[in-house]
Amino acid sequence: MRDVQPKASHFISGQYTHDTSAPEMVSLYPFTGEVTARLHEATDAEIDAAFTAAAAAQKTWAALPPVERGRVLRRAADILRERNQELSEIETIDTGKPIQETLVADAESGAQALEYFGGLIAAVTGETVPLGEDFVYTIREPLGTCVGIGAWNYPIQIACWKAAPALAAGNAMIFKPSEVTPLSALKLAEILVEAGAPEGLFNVVQGTGRVGAALISDPRCAKVSLTGSVPTGRKVYAAAADGIRHVTMELGGKSPLILFEDAEIENAVSAAINANFYSTGQICSNGTRVFVHEDIHDAFVKRLAERTATAKLGDPLDPEVTVGPMVSDTQRQKVLACIEAGKEAGANLLFGGDVPEGPGYFLTPAAFDGVTDDMALATDEIFGPVMSILTFRDEDEVIARANATDFGLAAGLFTRDIKRAHRVVAQLEAGTCWINTYNLTPVESPFGGNKMSGVGRENARAALDHYSQVKSVYVCMGDVEAAF
Ligand code: NAD
Repeated sequence: MRDVQPKASHFISGQYTHDTSAPEMVSLYPFTGEVTARLHEATDAEIDAAFTAAAAAQKTWAALPPVERGRVLRRAADILRERNQELSEIETIDTGKPIQETLVADAESGAQALEYFGGLIAAVTGETVPLGEDFVYTIREPLGTCVGIGAWNYPIQIACWKAAPALAAGNAMIFKPSEVTPLSALKLAEILVEAGAPEGLFNVVQGTGRVGAALISDPRCAKVSLTGSVPTGRKVYAAAADGIRHVTMELGGKSPLILFEDAEIENAVSAAINANFYSTGQICSNGTRVFVHEDIHDAFVKRLAERTATAKLGDPLDPEVTVGPMVSDTQRQKVLACIEAGKEAGANLLFGGDVPEGPGYFLTPAAFDGVTDDMALATDEIFGPVMSILTFRDEDEVIARANATDFGLAAGLFTRDIKRAHRVVAQLEAGTCWINTYNLTPVESPFGGNKMSGVGRENARAALDHYSQVKSVYVCMGDVEAAF
Protein backbone atom coordinates (compact mmCIF):
# COMPACT_ATOMS: atom_id res chain seq x y z
CA MET A 1 0.00 0.00 0.00
CA ARG A 2 1.18 3.52 -0.79
CA ASP A 3 2.84 5.48 2.04
CA VAL A 4 0.47 8.41 2.64
CA GLN A 5 2.16 10.04 5.64
CA PRO A 6 2.51 13.74 4.73
CA LYS A 7 5.74 15.66 5.43
CA ALA A 8 3.86 17.61 8.09
CA SER A 9 0.27 18.30 9.10
CA HIS A 10 -0.43 21.76 7.68
CA PHE A 11 0.42 23.63 4.51
CA ILE A 12 0.87 27.30 5.35
CA SER A 13 2.49 29.93 3.16
CA GLY A 14 3.65 27.31 0.69
CA GLN A 15 5.38 25.15 3.32
CA TYR A 16 4.62 21.97 5.18
CA THR A 17 4.74 22.70 8.88
CA HIS A 18 3.47 21.57 12.27
CA ASP A 19 4.00 21.98 15.97
CA THR A 20 4.59 18.53 17.43
CA SER A 21 3.46 19.67 20.88
CA ALA A 22 -0.11 20.08 19.57
CA PRO A 23 -2.63 17.22 20.05
CA GLU A 24 -2.09 14.30 17.69
CA MET A 25 -4.68 13.08 15.20
CA VAL A 26 -4.43 9.93 13.13
CA SER A 27 -5.79 8.78 9.82
CA LEU A 28 -6.86 5.12 9.51
CA TYR A 29 -7.30 2.83 6.53
CA PRO A 30 -10.95 1.78 6.93
CA PHE A 31 -10.23 -1.63 5.37
CA THR A 32 -7.72 -2.67 8.03
CA GLY A 33 -8.02 -0.08 10.77
CA GLU A 34 -4.26 0.48 10.59
CA VAL A 35 -2.87 3.96 11.19
CA THR A 36 -1.68 5.37 7.86
CA ALA A 37 -0.75 8.89 8.93
CA ARG A 38 -0.07 10.82 12.13
CA LEU A 39 -0.75 14.54 12.20
CA HIS A 40 -1.19 17.35 14.70
CA GLU A 41 -4.04 19.78 15.23
CA ALA A 42 -3.31 23.40 14.34
CA THR A 43 -2.32 25.67 17.20
CA ASP A 44 -3.55 29.25 17.58
CA ALA A 45 -0.14 30.44 16.32
CA GLU A 46 -0.49 28.30 13.18
CA ILE A 47 -4.00 29.60 12.55
CA ASP A 48 -2.66 33.13 12.91
CA ALA A 49 0.18 32.35 10.48
CA ALA A 50 -2.32 31.01 7.94
CA PHE A 51 -4.37 34.23 8.07
CA THR A 52 -1.24 36.38 7.76
CA ALA A 53 -0.02 34.38 4.75
CA ALA A 54 -3.46 34.40 3.14
CA ALA A 55 -3.87 38.17 3.46
CA ALA A 56 -0.48 38.84 1.88
CA ALA A 57 -1.04 36.42 -1.01
CA GLN A 58 -4.58 37.62 -1.67
CA LYS A 59 -3.43 41.17 -2.41
CA THR A 60 -1.08 40.18 -5.21
CA TRP A 61 -3.43 37.49 -6.50
CA ALA A 62 -6.46 39.78 -6.74
CA ALA A 63 -4.36 42.34 -8.62
CA LEU A 64 -3.63 39.86 -11.43
CA PRO A 65 -5.75 40.03 -14.59
CA PRO A 66 -8.46 37.35 -14.28
CA VAL A 67 -7.13 35.49 -17.30
CA GLU A 68 -3.82 34.97 -15.47
CA ARG A 69 -5.54 33.70 -12.33
CA GLY A 70 -7.54 31.38 -14.53
CA ARG A 71 -4.39 30.03 -16.18
CA VAL A 72 -2.99 28.97 -12.80
CA LEU A 73 -6.20 27.16 -11.93
CA ARG A 74 -6.32 25.39 -15.26
CA ARG A 75 -2.68 24.31 -14.84
CA ALA A 76 -3.60 22.92 -11.42
CA ALA A 77 -6.44 20.98 -13.05
CA ASP A 78 -3.95 19.43 -15.47
CA ILE A 79 -1.62 18.40 -12.63
CA LEU A 80 -4.51 16.85 -10.70
CA ARG A 81 -5.35 14.76 -13.74
CA GLU A 82 -1.70 13.73 -14.28
CA ARG A 83 -1.62 12.54 -10.66
CA ASN A 84 -5.09 11.03 -10.63
CA GLN A 85 -3.81 7.53 -9.79
CA GLU A 86 -1.83 8.74 -6.75
CA LEU A 87 -4.60 11.08 -5.57
CA SER A 88 -7.24 8.39 -5.98
CA GLU A 89 -5.19 5.93 -3.94
CA ILE A 90 -4.75 8.52 -1.18
CA GLU A 91 -8.49 9.17 -1.20
CA THR A 92 -9.31 5.45 -1.09
CA ILE A 93 -6.87 4.88 1.78
CA ASP A 94 -8.29 7.85 3.70
CA THR A 95 -12.01 7.22 3.09
CA GLY A 96 -12.32 3.52 2.26
CA LYS A 97 -14.19 4.31 -0.97
CA PRO A 98 -13.51 1.82 -3.78
CA ILE A 99 -10.69 2.81 -6.13
CA GLN A 100 -13.04 2.29 -9.07
CA GLU A 101 -15.04 5.24 -7.66
CA THR A 102 -12.19 7.52 -6.61
CA LEU A 103 -10.48 7.17 -10.00
CA VAL A 104 -13.47 8.81 -11.70
CA ALA A 105 -15.31 10.86 -9.08
CA ASP A 106 -12.92 12.61 -6.70
CA ALA A 107 -9.75 14.30 -8.00
CA GLU A 108 -11.35 14.27 -11.46
CA SER A 109 -14.35 16.20 -10.19
CA GLY A 110 -11.96 18.59 -8.45
CA ALA A 111 -10.03 19.08 -11.70
CA GLN A 112 -13.25 19.92 -13.50
CA ALA A 113 -14.03 22.63 -10.95
CA LEU A 114 -10.57 24.19 -11.36
CA GLU A 115 -10.85 23.97 -15.12
CA TYR A 116 -14.36 25.43 -15.18
CA PHE A 117 -13.75 28.40 -12.89
CA GLY A 118 -10.30 28.96 -14.40
CA GLY A 119 -11.96 29.31 -17.79
CA LEU A 120 -14.98 31.27 -16.63
CA ILE A 121 -13.43 34.01 -14.56
CA ALA A 122 -12.05 36.12 -17.41
CA ALA A 123 -15.56 36.34 -18.85
CA VAL A 124 -17.09 37.78 -15.68
CA THR A 125 -17.75 41.47 -16.13
CA GLY A 126 -19.72 44.16 -14.38
CA GLU A 127 -22.73 46.14 -15.51
CA THR A 128 -23.19 49.68 -16.73
CA VAL A 129 -26.42 51.34 -15.66
CA PRO A 130 -27.26 54.48 -17.68
CA LEU A 131 -28.88 57.31 -15.67
CA GLY A 132 -29.22 60.06 -18.25
CA GLU A 133 -25.89 61.86 -18.32
CA ASP A 134 -24.77 60.09 -15.18
CA PHE A 135 -24.20 56.37 -14.93
CA VAL A 136 -23.36 53.61 -12.51
CA TYR A 137 -20.92 50.80 -13.16
CA THR A 138 -20.45 47.71 -11.06
CA ILE A 139 -17.37 45.69 -10.21
CA ARG A 140 -17.37 42.19 -8.72
CA GLU A 141 -14.75 42.25 -5.98
CA PRO A 142 -13.30 39.39 -3.95
CA LEU A 143 -14.26 39.05 -0.30
CA GLY A 144 -10.73 38.55 1.07
CA THR A 145 -9.76 35.43 3.00
CA CYS A 146 -12.39 32.69 2.84
CA VAL A 147 -12.50 29.73 5.19
CA GLY A 148 -13.49 26.32 3.80
CA ILE A 149 -14.48 23.48 6.12
CA GLY A 150 -14.92 19.99 4.71
CA ALA A 151 -16.75 16.74 5.44
CA TRP A 152 -15.07 13.32 5.12
CA ASN A 153 -16.99 11.74 2.27
CA TYR A 154 -15.51 13.60 -0.74
CA PRO A 155 -12.40 15.29 0.68
CA ILE A 156 -10.55 16.53 -2.41
CA GLN A 157 -13.75 17.22 -4.33
CA ILE A 158 -15.06 19.38 -1.48
CA ALA A 159 -11.71 21.22 -1.23
CA CYS A 160 -11.74 21.93 -4.97
CA TRP A 161 -15.42 22.87 -5.14
CA LYS A 162 -14.66 25.58 -2.56
CA ALA A 163 -11.16 26.60 -3.65
CA ALA A 164 -11.82 26.88 -7.39
CA PRO A 165 -14.55 29.57 -7.33
CA ALA A 166 -12.98 31.29 -4.30
CA LEU A 167 -9.54 31.64 -5.89
CA ALA A 168 -10.94 32.41 -9.34
CA ALA A 169 -12.82 35.36 -7.84
CA GLY A 170 -9.57 36.68 -6.34
CA ASN A 171 -9.84 35.44 -2.76
CA ALA A 172 -7.39 33.48 -0.63
CA MET A 173 -8.56 30.40 1.26
CA ILE A 174 -7.77 28.61 4.47
CA PHE A 175 -9.17 25.10 4.26
CA LYS A 176 -9.76 22.75 7.16
CA PRO A 177 -10.42 19.19 6.03
CA SER A 178 -12.43 16.82 8.17
CA GLU A 179 -10.23 15.40 10.93
CA VAL A 180 -11.27 11.95 9.64
CA THR A 181 -9.80 12.51 6.15
CA PRO A 182 -6.99 15.06 6.39
CA LEU A 183 -4.71 13.96 3.55
CA SER A 184 -5.77 14.93 0.05
CA ALA A 185 -6.33 18.66 0.70
CA LEU A 186 -2.59 18.90 1.41
CA LYS A 187 -1.90 17.54 -2.07
CA LEU A 188 -4.20 20.16 -3.57
CA ALA A 189 -2.25 22.86 -1.72
CA GLU A 190 1.05 21.53 -3.10
CA ILE A 191 -0.36 21.35 -6.62
CA LEU A 192 -1.69 24.91 -6.57
CA VAL A 193 1.77 26.23 -5.68
CA GLU A 194 3.32 24.08 -8.39
CA ALA A 195 0.79 25.51 -10.85
CA GLY A 196 1.92 29.05 -9.99
CA ALA A 197 -0.37 30.21 -7.20
CA PRO A 198 1.37 32.54 -4.75
CA GLU A 199 2.49 30.89 -1.53
CA GLY A 200 -0.15 31.46 1.12
CA LEU A 201 -3.05 31.72 -1.32
CA PHE A 202 -4.42 28.29 -0.37
CA ASN A 203 -3.51 27.07 3.10
CA VAL A 204 -4.53 23.85 4.83
CA VAL A 205 -4.81 23.58 8.60
CA GLN A 206 -5.82 20.41 10.38
CA GLY A 207 -7.99 19.80 13.39
CA THR A 208 -11.39 19.13 14.85
CA GLY A 209 -14.32 21.51 15.22
CA ARG A 210 -12.24 23.54 17.66
CA VAL A 211 -9.93 24.62 14.84
CA GLY A 212 -12.91 25.24 12.54
CA ALA A 213 -14.51 27.46 15.17
CA ALA A 214 -11.26 29.39 15.69
CA LEU A 215 -11.00 30.05 11.95
CA ILE A 216 -14.53 31.46 11.75
CA SER A 217 -14.17 33.68 14.80
CA ASP A 218 -10.97 35.30 13.50
CA PRO A 219 -11.82 38.85 12.37
CA ARG A 220 -9.81 38.26 9.18
CA CYS A 221 -12.29 35.58 8.01
CA ALA A 222 -14.52 37.17 5.34
CA LYS A 223 -16.58 34.11 4.52
CA VAL A 224 -17.08 30.54 5.58
CA SER A 225 -18.18 27.71 3.33
CA LEU A 226 -19.07 24.55 5.24
CA THR A 227 -19.84 21.08 3.98
CA GLY A 228 -21.16 19.09 6.91
CA SER A 229 -24.16 18.08 8.95
CA VAL A 230 -27.09 20.27 9.98
CA PRO A 231 -26.05 20.40 13.67
CA THR A 232 -22.59 21.63 12.68
CA GLY A 233 -24.19 24.02 10.19
CA ARG A 234 -26.20 25.61 12.97
CA LYS A 235 -23.06 26.28 15.02
CA VAL A 236 -21.02 27.54 12.08
CA TYR A 237 -23.84 29.77 10.81
CA ALA A 238 -24.28 31.26 14.31
CA ALA A 239 -20.54 31.91 14.64
CA ALA A 240 -20.48 33.50 11.19
CA ALA A 241 -23.47 35.67 12.10
CA ASP A 242 -21.55 37.09 15.02
CA GLY A 243 -19.01 38.59 12.64
CA ILE A 244 -21.55 39.18 9.81
CA ARG A 245 -19.55 36.88 7.53
CA HIS A 246 -20.72 35.60 4.17
CA VAL A 247 -21.76 31.94 4.32
CA THR A 248 -22.31 28.94 2.13
CA MET A 249 -23.81 25.91 3.88
CA GLU A 250 -23.80 22.53 2.17
CA LEU A 251 -25.57 20.35 4.70
CA GLY A 252 -27.40 17.06 4.99
CA GLY A 253 -30.44 15.62 3.29
CA LYS A 254 -33.16 13.01 3.23
CA SER A 255 -33.97 13.22 -0.41
CA PRO A 256 -36.88 11.54 -2.21
CA LEU A 257 -36.51 9.38 -5.30
CA ILE A 258 -39.95 8.89 -6.87
CA LEU A 259 -40.56 5.96 -9.22
CA PHE A 260 -43.83 6.34 -11.12
CA GLU A 261 -45.68 3.35 -12.56
CA ASP A 262 -44.32 4.03 -16.06
CA ALA A 263 -40.67 4.15 -14.91
CA GLU A 264 -38.17 2.14 -16.90
CA ILE A 265 -37.42 -0.44 -14.20
CA GLU A 266 -33.78 -1.30 -14.91
CA ASN A 267 -32.81 2.38 -15.01
CA ALA A 268 -34.84 3.07 -11.89
CA VAL A 269 -33.06 0.24 -10.07
CA SER A 270 -29.67 1.55 -11.26
CA ALA A 271 -30.53 4.99 -9.94
CA ALA A 272 -31.77 3.62 -6.62
CA ILE A 273 -28.52 1.65 -6.23
CA ASN A 274 -26.42 4.74 -7.06
CA ALA A 275 -28.58 6.88 -4.80
CA ASN A 276 -28.13 4.61 -1.78
CA PHE A 277 -25.08 2.38 -2.07
CA TYR A 278 -22.46 4.37 -4.04
CA SER A 279 -19.68 5.45 -1.65
CA THR A 280 -21.26 2.99 0.80
CA GLY A 281 -24.20 5.35 1.08
CA GLN A 282 -22.12 8.22 2.48
CA ILE A 283 -23.43 10.93 0.13
CA CYS A 284 -25.39 14.00 1.21
CA SER A 285 -27.69 14.09 -1.81
CA ASN A 286 -28.64 10.41 -1.66
CA GLY A 287 -32.21 9.50 -2.52
CA THR A 288 -32.79 7.50 0.63
CA ARG A 289 -36.59 7.72 0.58
CA VAL A 290 -37.48 5.66 -2.47
CA PHE A 291 -41.19 6.20 -3.21
CA VAL A 292 -42.29 3.35 -5.47
CA HIS A 293 -45.68 3.28 -7.17
CA GLU A 294 -47.71 0.30 -5.91
CA ASP A 295 -48.02 -1.16 -9.43
CA ILE A 296 -44.26 -1.60 -9.88
CA HIS A 297 -43.32 -2.31 -6.28
CA ASP A 298 -42.82 -6.06 -6.66
CA ALA A 299 -40.87 -5.80 -9.91
CA PHE A 300 -38.63 -3.09 -8.46
CA VAL A 301 -37.91 -4.96 -5.24
CA LYS A 302 -37.13 -8.20 -7.11
CA ARG A 303 -34.56 -6.59 -9.42
CA LEU A 304 -33.10 -4.49 -6.61
CA ALA A 305 -32.44 -7.60 -4.52
CA GLU A 306 -31.04 -9.57 -7.47
CA ARG A 307 -28.67 -6.80 -8.50
CA THR A 308 -27.54 -5.86 -5.00
CA ALA A 309 -26.63 -9.52 -4.42
CA THR A 310 -23.89 -9.07 -7.05
CA ALA A 311 -22.18 -6.22 -5.11
CA LYS A 312 -18.55 -7.06 -4.40
CA LEU A 313 -17.32 -6.05 -0.96
CA GLY A 314 -13.60 -6.13 -0.23
CA ASP A 315 -10.32 -4.24 -0.23
CA PRO A 316 -11.24 -0.89 -1.75
CA LEU A 317 -7.85 -0.76 -3.48
CA ASP A 318 -8.94 -3.80 -5.53
CA PRO A 319 -10.35 -2.43 -8.81
CA GLU A 320 -13.04 -5.14 -8.86
CA VAL A 321 -14.52 -4.09 -5.52
CA THR A 322 -17.78 -2.14 -5.78
CA VAL A 323 -18.62 -1.58 -2.09
CA GLY A 324 -15.94 -0.44 0.35
CA PRO A 325 -16.01 -0.24 4.13
CA MET A 326 -17.60 2.71 5.90
CA VAL A 327 -15.24 5.54 6.79
CA SER A 328 -14.98 4.60 10.48
CA ASP A 329 -16.34 2.23 13.07
CA THR A 330 -18.07 5.19 14.72
CA GLN A 331 -20.03 5.88 11.56
CA ARG A 332 -20.84 2.18 11.16
CA GLN A 333 -22.16 1.99 14.73
CA LYS A 334 -24.42 5.02 14.08
CA VAL A 335 -25.84 3.33 11.00
CA LEU A 336 -26.29 -0.02 12.78
CA ALA A 337 -28.31 1.79 15.45
CA CYS A 338 -30.57 3.25 12.71
CA ILE A 339 -31.05 -0.25 11.28
CA GLU A 340 -32.03 -1.63 14.68
CA ALA A 341 -34.46 1.25 15.20
CA GLY A 342 -35.97 0.51 11.77
CA LYS A 343 -36.58 -3.11 12.69
CA GLU A 344 -38.11 -2.14 16.01
CA ALA A 345 -40.41 0.36 14.28
CA GLY A 346 -41.80 -2.50 12.20
CA ALA A 347 -40.16 -1.90 8.81
CA ASN A 348 -39.34 -5.02 6.83
CA LEU A 349 -35.60 -5.49 6.29
CA LEU A 350 -35.43 -7.03 2.82
CA PHE A 351 -31.69 -7.65 2.81
CA GLY A 352 -28.37 -6.41 4.19
CA GLY A 353 -27.42 -4.54 7.31
CA ASP A 354 -24.96 -7.25 8.33
CA VAL A 355 -21.43 -6.86 9.60
CA PRO A 356 -19.43 -9.42 7.63
CA GLU A 357 -16.61 -11.47 9.16
CA GLY A 358 -13.08 -10.20 8.56
CA PRO A 359 -11.32 -6.85 8.51
CA GLY A 360 -12.80 -3.47 7.66
CA TYR A 361 -15.72 -1.33 8.82
CA PHE A 362 -18.09 -3.09 6.43
CA LEU A 363 -21.83 -3.04 6.47
CA THR A 364 -23.73 -4.86 3.74
CA PRO A 365 -26.07 -2.68 1.63
CA ALA A 366 -29.51 -2.74 3.25
CA ALA A 367 -33.05 -2.06 2.06
CA PHE A 368 -36.17 -1.71 4.19
CA ASP A 369 -39.61 -2.23 2.71
CA GLY A 370 -42.89 -1.07 4.20
CA VAL A 371 -41.39 2.13 5.56
CA THR A 372 -43.92 4.76 6.64
CA ASP A 373 -43.40 8.52 6.66
CA ASP A 374 -43.25 8.80 10.43
CA MET A 375 -40.50 6.22 10.99
CA ALA A 376 -37.00 7.51 11.81
CA LEU A 377 -35.84 5.60 8.73
CA ALA A 378 -37.82 8.10 6.64
CA THR A 379 -37.15 11.25 8.63
CA ASP A 380 -33.49 11.12 9.75
CA GLU A 381 -30.34 11.34 7.67
CA ILE A 382 -28.55 7.99 8.16
CA PHE A 383 -25.44 8.54 5.98
CA GLY A 384 -24.83 4.89 5.29
CA PRO A 385 -25.97 2.14 2.87
CA VAL A 386 -29.60 2.01 3.99
CA MET A 387 -32.48 2.41 1.52
CA SER A 388 -36.05 2.98 2.67
CA ILE A 389 -38.82 1.90 0.29
CA LEU A 390 -42.21 3.57 0.63
CA THR A 391 -45.17 2.96 -1.65
CA PHE A 392 -47.63 5.46 -3.10
CA ARG A 393 -50.68 5.54 -5.36
CA ASP A 394 -51.23 9.11 -6.47
CA GLU A 395 -49.12 11.98 -7.88
CA ASP A 396 -50.35 14.71 -5.53
CA GLU A 397 -49.97 12.39 -2.58
CA VAL A 398 -46.35 11.55 -3.39
CA ILE A 399 -45.40 15.20 -3.95
CA ALA A 400 -46.82 16.16 -0.55
CA ARG A 401 -45.04 13.26 1.16
CA ALA A 402 -41.75 13.92 -0.66
CA ASN A 403 -41.84 17.53 0.54
CA ALA A 404 -42.81 16.70 4.13
CA THR A 405 -39.26 17.01 5.44
CA ASP A 406 -37.10 19.77 6.89
CA PHE A 407 -34.40 18.92 4.35
CA GLY A 408 -34.35 20.06 0.72
CA LEU A 409 -31.06 19.07 -0.83
CA ALA A 410 -32.09 16.93 -3.79
CA ALA A 411 -34.89 14.93 -5.39
CA GLY A 412 -35.30 12.60 -8.34
CA LEU A 413 -38.07 11.02 -10.32
CA PHE A 414 -38.51 8.37 -12.99
CA THR A 415 -41.33 8.52 -15.51
CA ARG A 416 -41.73 8.31 -19.29
CA ASP A 417 -44.38 11.04 -19.21
CA ILE A 418 -42.56 14.27 -20.07
CA LYS A 419 -45.36 16.53 -18.85
CA ARG A 420 -45.61 14.77 -15.53
CA ALA A 421 -41.81 14.93 -15.09
CA HIS A 422 -41.72 18.73 -15.33
CA ARG A 423 -44.99 19.23 -13.46
CA VAL A 424 -43.71 17.23 -10.51
CA VAL A 425 -40.19 18.70 -10.49
CA ALA A 426 -41.70 22.19 -10.37
CA GLN A 427 -43.38 21.27 -7.08
CA LEU A 428 -40.48 19.50 -5.37
CA GLU A 429 -38.80 21.51 -2.62
CA ALA A 430 -35.18 20.68 -3.40
CA GLY A 431 -32.13 22.56 -4.68
CA THR A 432 -31.08 19.89 -7.18
CA CYS A 433 -33.49 17.61 -9.06
CA TRP A 434 -32.96 14.79 -11.52
CA ILE A 435 -35.34 13.41 -14.12
CA ASN A 436 -34.68 9.78 -15.09
CA THR A 437 -31.28 9.68 -13.39
CA TYR A 438 -29.81 10.39 -9.95
CA ASN A 439 -26.78 11.99 -8.26
CA LEU A 440 -25.09 13.47 -11.33
CA THR A 441 -23.42 16.72 -10.27
CA PRO A 442 -21.59 18.27 -13.21
CA VAL A 443 -19.67 21.46 -12.42
CA GLU A 444 -21.79 23.33 -14.97
CA SER A 445 -24.89 22.82 -12.81
CA PRO A 446 -25.51 24.74 -9.54
CA PHE A 447 -25.56 22.42 -6.52
CA GLY A 448 -26.95 23.11 -3.07
CA GLY A 449 -29.88 22.79 -0.77
CA ASN A 450 -33.17 24.39 0.19
CA LYS A 451 -34.63 24.51 3.69
CA MET A 452 -32.33 22.96 6.33
CA SER A 453 -30.05 21.49 3.66
CA GLY A 454 -28.23 24.71 3.11
CA VAL A 455 -27.66 28.23 1.97
CA GLY A 456 -25.97 29.26 -1.25
CA ARG A 457 -24.82 27.19 -4.20
CA GLU A 458 -21.61 25.50 -5.27
CA ASN A 459 -20.55 24.99 -8.88
CA ALA A 460 -21.64 26.87 -12.00
CA ARG A 461 -21.66 30.67 -12.29
CA ALA A 462 -23.84 30.78 -9.18
CA ALA A 463 -20.85 29.86 -6.99
CA LEU A 464 -18.90 32.95 -8.10
CA ASP A 465 -21.65 35.19 -6.72
CA HIS A 466 -21.11 33.57 -3.33
CA TYR A 467 -17.37 34.34 -3.35
CA SER A 468 -17.58 37.97 -4.44
CA GLN A 469 -19.39 41.18 -3.66
CA VAL A 470 -20.66 43.92 -5.94
CA LYS A 471 -19.31 47.43 -5.77
CA SER A 472 -21.51 50.06 -7.40
CA VAL A 473 -19.78 53.19 -8.64
CA TYR A 474 -21.95 56.24 -9.32
CA VAL A 475 -20.35 58.59 -11.83
CA CYS A 476 -21.64 62.16 -11.89
CA MET A 477 -21.09 64.04 -15.15
CA GLY A 478 -22.74 67.31 -14.07
CA ASP A 479 -22.60 69.75 -11.17
CA VAL A 480 -23.46 68.89 -7.59
CA GLU A 481 -26.54 70.62 -6.18
CA ALA A 482 -26.80 71.45 -2.48
CA ALA A 483 -29.44 73.17 -0.34
CA PHE A 484 -27.02 75.83 0.81
P1 NAD B 1 -19.71 17.19 10.48
O1 NAD B 1 -20.79 18.20 10.52
O2 NAD B 1 -19.50 16.31 11.64
O3 NAD B 1 -18.30 17.90 10.22
C1 NAD B 1 -18.07 18.72 9.09
C2 NAD B 1 -16.85 19.59 9.33
O4 NAD B 1 -17.17 20.59 10.30
C3 NAD B 1 -15.62 18.85 9.88
O5 NAD B 1 -14.47 19.36 9.23
C4 NAD B 1 -15.63 19.23 11.35
O6 NAD B 1 -14.35 19.19 11.95
C5 NAD B 1 -16.15 20.66 11.28
N1 NAD B 1 -16.74 21.17 12.52
C6 NAD B 1 -17.38 20.49 13.49
N2 NAD B 1 -17.80 21.33 14.45
C7 NAD B 1 -17.43 22.57 14.08
C8 NAD B 1 -17.58 23.87 14.66
N3 NAD B 1 -18.22 24.06 15.82
N4 NAD B 1 -17.07 24.92 14.00
C9 NAD B 1 -16.45 24.76 12.81
N5 NAD B 1 -16.26 23.57 12.22
C10 NAD B 1 -16.76 22.48 12.84
O7 NAD B 1 -19.98 16.36 9.15
P2 NAD B 1 -19.27 15.02 8.65
O8 NAD B 1 -19.69 13.92 9.57
O9 NAD B 1 -17.83 15.28 8.40
O10 NAD B 1 -19.96 14.82 7.22
C11 NAD B 1 -21.20 14.25 7.06
C12 NAD B 1 -22.27 15.31 6.89
O11 NAD B 1 -21.92 16.19 5.84
C13 NAD B 1 -23.61 14.74 6.49
O12 NAD B 1 -24.65 15.37 7.20
C14 NAD B 1 -23.71 15.06 5.02
O13 NAD B 1 -25.01 15.13 4.52
C15 NAD B 1 -23.00 16.36 4.94
N6 NAD B 1 -22.51 16.60 3.59
C16 NAD B 1 -23.12 17.56 2.82
C17 NAD B 1 -22.70 17.79 1.51
C18 NAD B 1 -23.36 18.83 0.66
O14 NAD B 1 -22.78 19.23 -0.34
N7 NAD B 1 -24.56 19.29 0.96
C19 NAD B 1 -21.64 17.04 1.00
C20 NAD B 1 -21.04 16.08 1.80
C21 NAD B 1 -21.48 15.88 3.10
